[in-house]
Amino acid sequence: MQLLKDRILKDGIVKAGNVLKVDSFLNHQIDVELMDEIGKEFKRLFDGKPITKILTIEASGIAVACFAAQYFRVPVVFAKKAQSINLDGESYTTKIESFTHKRVYDVIVSKKYLSTEDHVLIIDDFLANGCALVGLIDLVKAAGATVEGVGIVIEKGFQKGGDEIRATGIDLKSLAVIESMDDKTGNIVFRAE
Ligand code: 5GP
Repeated sequence: MQLLKDRILKDGIVKAGNVLKVDSFLNHQIDVELMDEIGKEFKRLFDGKPITKILTIEASGIAVACFAAQYFRVPVVFAKKAQSINLDGESYTTKIESFTHKRVYDVIVSKKYLSTEDHVLIIDDFLANGCALVGLIDLVKAAGATVEGVGIVIEKGFQKGGDEIRATGIDLKSLAVIESMDDKTGNIVFRAE
């Protein structure tokens, strides 16, 4: 998605440790016009699939998922990071290791909001090593629902998540795939489409 790539080149800041900061339009301040175009693009990419719910994880995935959901006309469910899990049988739970915060979270979704009838599009802001995505896929499977696809705003193609998840046969599409980035020069190179 050229509009997104241009914005990453203009405002993205490459930090040490393979972290791309996009706080000015995605992760802190949100550019709603860009977000709307992102929502439309996800609709175009996954059009025709029988999607009933969009699943994401708090916090940064929520805005993206909501903009996409307007076009799919389905609810958004966001997995919550829990301090402690209450094993009362009312939630699906999994563990996710945060790439940016370097800690493991228990993540939950209430059984009320995912069921065997659901066809789920998973959406997230970034894909790095794939922990967040694997956790979200686990939650969909625990519910007996179907993963129809995964939409990612920015994939760091030099980390392993994208390759591993595509190898499982899941329909994973990223709007911008970064092939390499350098915190010394600030240089960002995208994968050719
Ligand atoms: P993964 O679980 O794939 O290793 O990492 C995905 C999650 O970590 C995303 O939900 C995102 O919140 C965060 N993340 C990973 N890499 C980056 C990055 O380079 N920049 C930002 N802003 N977030 C990232």
